[in-house]
Amino acid sequence: MQFTLKQMEGLKIKACCVSMDNKNSLQTLELGKHSNLVLPFIGIHPECAVDNKLDEMIAMIEKYHQEISGIGEIGLDPTYVHTDDDSKRQGHVFETLLSLAEKFDKPISIHSRKSLENIFQIMSSYDTKHALLHWFDGSKKQLVKAMDMGFFVSYGPVLVYANDKQTLLSKTDTSKILVETDGPVRFSRCFEMKSGEISFIPSVVFCASKILGKSFDDMASILEDNSNSFLGK
Ligand SMILES: [Zn+2]
Repeated sequence: MQFTLKQMEGLKIKACCVSMDNKNSLQTLELGKHSNLVLPFIGIHPECAVDNKLDEMIAMIEKYHQEISGIGEIGLDPTYVHTDDDSKRQGHVFETLLSLAEKFDKPISIHSRKSLENIFQIMSSYDTKHALLHWFDGSKKQLVKAMDMGFFVSYGPVLVYANDKQTLLSKTDTSKILVETDGPVRFSRCFEMKSGEISFIPSVVFCASKILGKSFDDMASILEDNSNSFLGK
């Protein structure tokens, strides 16, 4: 982690640092105290929704709402659902944390793998002004819907080598684009199965700038504006 913070300093990158569960959210809060480059997001990832104590997370958000920059990752993912009860639980955790984000006026990072349609349906009753569909993996039609609903969408290292992601980026409202590492996911091709890290970000920014026909610096400044608008700054 120290290495990542050094890289962030060197590259002058501030990052929203999302969490997976209660324990890991406390670590994220600690990191946020150590470095002002880390914008802490806490929450319960859909992978952890069944086993995590929701009341503890609610108490944590109530206690630290002034310290946190946002809530995430939260969302839905059928990969981690084995029974109807699991599915209900995942939905309940997601909606409870959404309500808290609204209560404290916090941006949210949403995990929507294989669940975009359900997310769209649930989010129709919530504010999407500061909502991010991280690692957007939908169809062109779903992208249009995401734009209509006002979501931000983020693209990661896969953008560098995946044509379908490049096409999606070219059809995304320029003011709604964000970039991410999605570490610790591993990336193939030019990234040689390395785990996503902050030093990949300039390549993602460069690739986005080429697709949109902008200079690297213009792209970086668009992303900075978009990040501020996502964070409500
Ligand atoms: Zn995710």
